[in-house]
Amino acid sequence: MSAACRLRRLDEQASIVVLERGPHVSFANCGLPYHIGGAIRDRERLLVATPELLAARYALDVRVEHEVLAIDRPARQVLVRDLRAGKEYRLSYDRLDELPHDRELLVVCAVGQRGYVACRILSQRGFVCRNLSGGFALLQLWTRAERLRGDASAG
Ligand SMILES: Cc1cc2nc3c(=O)[nH]c(=O)nc-3n(C[C@H](O)[C@H](O)[C@H](O)COP(=O)(O)OP(=O)(O)OC[C@H]3O[C@@H](n4cnc5c(N)ncnc54)[C@H](O)[C@@H]3O)c2cc1C
Repeated sequence: MSAACRLRRLDEQASIVVLERGPHVSFANCGLPYHIGGAIRDRERLLVATPELLAARYALDVRVEHEVLAIDRPARQVLVRDLRAGKEYRLSYDRLDELPHDRELLVVCAVGQRGYVACRILSQRGFVCRNLSGGFALLQLWTRAERLRGDASAG
């Protein structure tokens, strides 16, 4: 859960799925001794967050009673069993297959930093990739400067 919440803070757009085989996704382990010792009598007070709260607050897709059976690294998928429905399904954990390998990719973000990281990851996966250094911000400045230069030379 910590990783999922951290990822949400790093990326507002990411699609984040949390798979938990148990019935509770956020359980205060550190409160267990207090529960056993009687200081926390109500067991429900050990449940810190529900899937509904995590969906509303962090836009997390939390699936309790969904067990991960295997990780298929080459296919970048996890095999999951929905314990209640008794059904198995595969979940992809990236969409890199959708990118072309036969041409150079240009990665663009707001200021170039996320693009730089994305470009490194893509290069490690065998893609030919280039980052727009400075991102959209620099591109906008450059475009504006070009326009001003054009106006000045015309006038
Ligand atoms: C008694 C106790 C007291 C503690 N006190 C403290 C403390 O005071 N301070 C502190 O910092 N830490 C404390 N800890 C440690 C802290 O709880 C753990 O470090 C923390 O919970 C680890 O978080 P986690 O998400 O990595 O793992 P967990 O909280 O263990 O979560 C892992 C989850 O993965 C699920 N899971 C496992 N396999 C699968 C599968 N194949 N498919 C789907 N789901 C699966 C499990 O059901 C589990 O819910 C305490 C732990 C205990 C037990």
